[in-house]
Amino acid sequence: MYNLTSFLVLLILALGLLAWASFDMRLQFFLPARYKGNYKNKTISLTFDDGPTPFTLQVLNILAKHNCKATFFCIGKQIEQYPEIAKQIVKQGHILANHTYSHTAKMGFLSTQNVYNEIHSNQQVIINQIGVKPNWFRPPFGVTNPAIAKAIKKNKLVCIGWNIRSLDTISKTSEEVFNRVKRKLKPGGIILLHDTSNQTVEALEQLLLEIKKQQLTVVPLNELLDLDAYKNE
Ligand SMILES: [Zn+2]
Repeated sequence: MYNLTSFLVLLILALGLLAWASFDMRLQFFLPARYKGNYKNKTISLTFDDGPTPFTLQVLNILAKHNCKATFFCIGKQIEQYPEIAKQIVKQGHILANHTYSHTAKMGFLSTQNVYNEIHSNQQVIINQIGVKPNWFRPPFGVTNPAIAKAIKKNKLVCIGWNIRSLDTISKTSEEVFNRVKRKLKPGGIILLHDTSNQTVEALEQLLLEIKKQQLTVVPLNELLDLDAYKNE
């Protein structure tokens, strides 16, 4: 009886650890991921996931006003729905990267082949519609596991994480988003935002002013990571 209890306790601990490892890319348990820049440079990068959407245009306007370049991890289905907005992202000098074709909630349960297809078909959408070939991939929900790790490797993409989470998709107000990010601002930071809601758009301008106030400079992610955003071949 004692042994069975110990076994179960160990099993639960192991499963807990695996779940934790799946959701925190920074542990790099399943694959190498880039999630921060050099803290010695007083620079920081903005990333926007899950677009393009009509909110993307408002984000682009604010970024243009403050002369900042960001990275947009786009969903293939969204690019097909809003191709002109996706083109604007690149036209205005921002980076467009891969965030799967459908952003399925089942991401953590797909086979290697299905994850590969999710990444590959979005890569094709981006190449055909936008004319760039991304070098970067960000897994939906930040989930990594052996199947996702293999699929990223097979697609020859670099996995990109973040180290400043805004929780903007579950926040009710722009103040909540702003205050959360403000507390976490640091040199070498990669901020995770979503161009999918009003509260993010509203928090963005305030956030850019706060970054400046803290004497940090917004730089494009390829500069922060010293890593090419697109493939040259
Ligand atoms: Zn996402």
